[in-house]
Amino acid sequence: MGSGDYYDILGIPRNADDKEVKKAYRNLARKYHPDVSKESGAEEKFKKINEAYSVLSDSQKRAQYDNMGHETYTNASKGSYTGGGGGFGGGGFHTDFSGFGDIFDFFGGGGHRRTGPQPGADLLTHLSVLLEDAVSGTDRDIEVMHTEPCPACAGSGSYTKKQNTCPRCGGTGQMRQESQSPFGQFIRMTTCIQCGGKGKIPERQCKECHGTGHKRAKRKVTIHIPPGIESGMRLRMDGYGEAGDYGAPNGDLFIEVYVKPHERFTRVDDNLETFIEISPVQAVLGTTIEIETIEKRHIEVRVPSGIQNNTALRIAGEGVKRRGHPGDLLVRVKIVTPKQVSSEEKELYKKILELENKSSNKKGFFSGFMGKKKEKK
Ligand SMILES: [Zn+2]
Ligand SMILES: [Zn+2]
Repeated sequence: MGSGDYYDILGIPRNADDKEVKKAYRNLARKYHPDVSKESGAEEKFKKINEAYSVLSDSQKRAQYDNMGHETYTNASKGSYTGGGGGFGGGGFHTDFSGFGDIFDFFGGGGHRRTGPQPGADLLTHLSVLLEDAVSGTDRDIEVMHTEPCPACAGSGSYTKKQNTCPRCGGTGQMRQESQSPFGQFIRMTTCIQCGGKGKIPERQCKECHGTGHKRAKRKVTIHIPPGIESGMRLRMDGYGEAGDYGAPNGDLFIEVYVKPHERFTRVDDNLETFIEISPVQAVLGTTIEIETIEKRHIEVRVPSGIQNNTALRIAGEGVKRRGHPGDLLVRVKIVTPKQVSSEEKELYKKILELENKSSNKKGFFSGFMGKKKEKK
């Protein structure tokens, strides 16, 4: 489907508000609606307008789009080819796709029907990725059930791979129904029942596909997950949807991504957060702690002396690697009080307490908020 900035498609500035988005969409949709427009390529244009609107009218999707840029947002396909057609319609069904545990929705049937070969329907699949994959980006192979052209007849539906013009409709795909009424003669056009609107029928029906030209098949697709992807974002692979009728383009495959939570790292925008635990003594004296980054590299974090509980130490460049500007890793320091100490340690803590009491008597500083209890001598 190539590129085409959504703002350009709707002809609006990047700071357009919701009203302007809606207004631009309405005007264009009216103009290019395939039932209305006679212009060539109107249907394709109409589809793009709808696609642009579906993103820009949704504040969350729009923010992601603005953030990622058009290319990254829409085109995550590798080696994809330009397909087209298809449209989201009603009346889908979905089924569990075993093996990957993902749900596949099949869109089809609804929407605008036209005569001639029908483009393939779009497919939507959901894909779960690990946070580390969303941070650095990765390629994932998935298997998708889809219809593809029948190999026996190369999608023609015909054993001889030849198609004839439909004798019933003369190739128009439509039939005329005339009826008389008190107001005059009515002519109604309906889809040809013999060719289903295609205008052509197989010369000799293919036995493999019973003349449909399609076959259900599982296919492996490599999905390129760009770094920085967030839950709810959709990737698109042009032409990887359902096969279109013979001579018509395939639908597209949409992949809605879900990023699984990580047990040690949380994502906040392009930063990652994790935490370390240190003892009160380590907090007072300072220490060095080795941590494993989300990319499984081991680095040392220097905790300065006198650190306060819940302070975040920033490690530059260890966050989400989006668009060449990686975020940071924030290491939050939790000071954990030991529940049990040896008698030797206890003696030392007592000693420290005595020293604290002495200095607080001198300065009157800790008495205010450290909850000091008068020691019995
Ligand atoms: Zn026909
Ligand atoms: Zn066939």
